[in-house]
Amino acid sequence: MSSSAENIVIVGTGCAGLTAAVYAARANLAPLVLEGGMPGGQLTTTSEVENFPGFPGGVDGFQLMDNLRQQAAKFGARFEAARVESVDFSAQPRVLRTADRSVLARAVIIATGASPRLTGVPGEKEYFGGKGVTTCATCDGAFFRNQEVVVVGGGDSACEEALFLTRFASKITLIHRRDALRASKIMADRTLAHPKITPAWDSVLTEVLGNAKGGVTGVRVRNLKTGAARVIPCSGVFMAIGHIPNTQPFAPALEVDANGYFRPADGSQVRTRVPGVYVAGDCADHVYRQAVTAAGMGCQAAIEAERWLAEHGG
Ligand code: NAP
Repeated sequence: MSSSAENIVIVGTGCAGLTAAVYAARANLAPLVLEGGMPGGQLTTTSEVENFPGFPGGVDGFQLMDNLRQQAAKFGARFEAARVESVDFSAQPRVLRTADRSVLARAVIIATGASPRLTGVPGEKEYFGGKGVTTCATCDGAFFRNQEVVVVGGGDSACEEALFLTRFASKITLIHRRDALRASKIMADRTLAHPKITPAWDSVLTEVLGNAKGGVTGVRVRNLKTGAARVIPCSGVFMAIGHIPNTQPFAPALEVDANGYFRPADGSQVRTRVPGVYVAGDCADHVYRQAVTAAGMGCQAAIEAERWLAEHGG
């Protein structure tokens, strides 16, 4: 093994990556943590997290991630802003290639999370980012004070976005392709009971409309049961239709399922077919996808990696 190889490199700084970093750092492994394009991960775009154990009054998502980062750094985790573009897991040490350099690692934990999915309809890309189309109510909701907006989707994210937007927007239309929400019952009930939120059932977005100034003015939707098309006037469009796992740079070396999620080895949530390489969090979990389950997977991966290094001379 090369003397310049890291003991352990953790890729990603969401709940899974940072929890792995805390455990690996407390095991005196001085992990190198590669932060990626969205330090802190998805929770930094959420507002109040009410279901993370230990916070009876809820906790701000950004604050929770900042706390975790500080906790990992306190025990010796090192952080570097870098995005892994490709890997070579065919030999030891493992190789992770970023834009600038190759990082060598005896053990690797991949916790790269998942990114918001978009619909691909005309206008979505054109008006994305500062022009009215967004995937983050927490980040952008305040720009839509007293304005009409739409949220697309029917899961917990869509409900969370819609409820958060009630603080600012005058009216929120929830556009969903079926006639029932997929969200948990408590979130669905809360959403549908809110006087500012109106559902548009059985409807799909077909176009985002805008004006010459480059701002959103409305969306065109089609009712899937009747075929009828209509325009819903709005100045904000919040996409909340799920996520795509960030597994592409690793996919040739590690097994992924039909939806691109890492497929761990039989009998484990975090072990892969490559010895010393582990996966954790939303990039490997399309079932639970919770902050606490991601943290749990990060913990498992770090303990497995620590044991593997002890057995293989780390
Ligand atoms: P999700 O549960 O996968 O829901 C995605 C929604 O978008 C579904 O309603 C789906 O419709 C719709 N959709 C997907 N592709 C679409 C397309 N191309 N066009 C139109 N609609 C489309 O995703 P999520 O809401 O992001 O939640 C992900 C996970 O995180 C879930 O397990 C959720 O419970 C969890 N979560 C929890 C909280 C919380 O507890 N506070 C908050 C957010 C998320 P169909 O229903 O027809 O499939």
